[in-house]
Amino acid sequence: MESGTAETSTGTNGAVNGASAPAAASIDVLNPANGAVVGSIATDTPESIAATVARVRGNQAEWEAIGIEGRYFWLGKLRDWILDNTERIGDTMQAETGKVRADVSLDLGYVADLINFYGSKAAGYIGDESVRPSSPLMAAKKLVIQYRPFPVVGVISPWNFPLAMALGDSIPALQAGAAVVVKPSEFTPLSLLEVIKAWKEEIGAPDVFDCVQGTGEAGGALIDNVDYVQFTGSDRTGRKVMARAAETLTPVSLELGGKDPMIVLADADVDRAANAAAWGGMVNSGQLCISVERIYVEEPVYDEFVAKLTEQVKGLRQGADGRKPEKDVGAMTSPNQTAIVEDQVDDALASGARALTGGKRADGPGDYFEPTVLVDVDHSMKVMRDETFGPVVGVMKVRDSEEALRLANDTRYGLAASVFGEKDRAERIARRIEAGSVNVNDVITNMAAMGVPMGGWKQSGIGFRHGEYGIKKYCRAESIVVTRFGGKREPNWYPYTRSRRGLVDRVSRAFSARDLKRRLGLRG
Ligand code: NAD
Repeated sequence: MESGTAETSTGTNGAVNGASAPAAASIDVLNPANGAVVGSIATDTPESIAATVARVRGNQAEWEAIGIEGRYFWLGKLRDWILDNTERIGDTMQAETGKVRADVSLDLGYVADLINFYGSKAAGYIGDESVRPSSPLMAAKKLVIQYRPFPVVGVISPWNFPLAMALGDSIPALQAGAAVVVKPSEFTPLSLLEVIKAWKEEIGAPDVFDCVQGTGEAGGALIDNVDYVQFTGSDRTGRKVMARAAETLTPVSLELGGKDPMIVLADADVDRAANAAAWGGMVNSGQLCISVERIYVEEPVYDEFVAKLTEQVKGLRQGADGRKPEKDVGAMTSPNQTAIVEDQVDDALASGARALTGGKRADGPGDYFEPTVLVDVDHSMKVMRDETFGPVVGVMKVRDSEEALRLANDTRYGLAASVFGEKDRAERIARRIEAGSVNVNDVITNMAAMGVPMGGWKQSGIGFRHGEYGIKKYCRAESIVVTRFGGKREPNWYPYTRSRRGLVDRVSRAFSARDLKRRLGLRG
């Protein structure tokens, strides 16, 4: 793996952030494909985090004032910079994640698309809204909703897609007019650091976008200082984030884990379903919140599906590649996650499951887990209940679609799902799945459908990204009620007199009642 370029990207956050307080310590960033140190970052202190937030807060009003087009101008420059520096930034990301190159491309492609999406849609989503008065009593008023950003948004992001998550959550906030401070994962801080440096030094954009570094402690300090928290990570951490934000009554949006089911109906195109399951379960080594983790297959096609899926997964090339995509499945980015995957697979095997391929850590240098297909699994096993977040799928045979649905919904999670089968029947099943997004005859594709919301039901999250909601959440609605014409006083103001009060009541009754007697005050 050609990881050399990442070493040049390291920097101290003192220099990058311009924060005055001293850094507390540093964190070595390792290449999971070979264990080599690829960089070292200085961690922020609570004081330096407060200083960074205060600095960008000071520049936010001007950023808001340049308007949607003005902000898109700078975000467009960021898109162009990313497109012009794809290889350079891809090298850094590959070094800190151990991803294969094809999975690096998924990350970068998403960001450019998202900038264009919100650049073109923001005016429709968060531009002023005129509202018709609902009552004739308000006829003299002009009603307008203005959407104004939270001044500073704090983004806390995970390690699985270092830019798609960190920038993906920052772009709509910046487009809305907020200043943004990101706390990337301590496992993968380098590629974001490179982008932030470029925003400031190469692009020369306004100083409203920065990052702070560190572990969960730094995340906590960021929560204390910002006006809105966008968190992406595990449900375990999500609970802590929400509790911390409650102390300052700071609103949060939480994009958490999943345990996504796939249902394969007897009338599915089995080849397509097996190919989708192999990719959907193993892409990015299964380290994708919406990867396929559980598969329920109707009896008549079970054997054929399992044979085809196993054959494909067996053939996947695992390991490290360079700039040319030569491998299919990369490393596990976090050693903590490898331990979770291993524990779940061991638990399943000890309880009677069989691994048709894979089933253990891979030999050799680096942190790899073999692409694994498990059968004879059931819902008593951790691998079918808890998020695996690794290259492992469990497959169960079901009698019919009702059993498949019951099992698919038998989970505390509800992020995404997929159904394969004759499209109308599959859509009917999809509509009954308890999840934020369901793909019919496809997997994961909802992530690229930016016009529709993506978020978790149940313990997979609170709030959504993408679509209208994905930018509106970063704004506060401000209702402007303008009196277009009126006399010296309104009839309901002082002084209260019998005649004025009586008039107000009679008019109010006349408009609220829906029958003549009540309108005229002849009943009640
Ligand atoms: P994690 O919860 O361990 O960490 C996420 C981030 O939170 C990191 O930056 C971490 O430093 C920070 N953090 C940790 N403790 C904190 C605390 N007490 N206060 C504030 N911040 C804290 O998650 P991870 O292991 O980095 O990522 C994997 C998880 O992310 C999986 O569960 C995956 O499903 C989820 N994820 C969800 C989505 C989605 O869109 N729903 C997308 C990607 C990943």
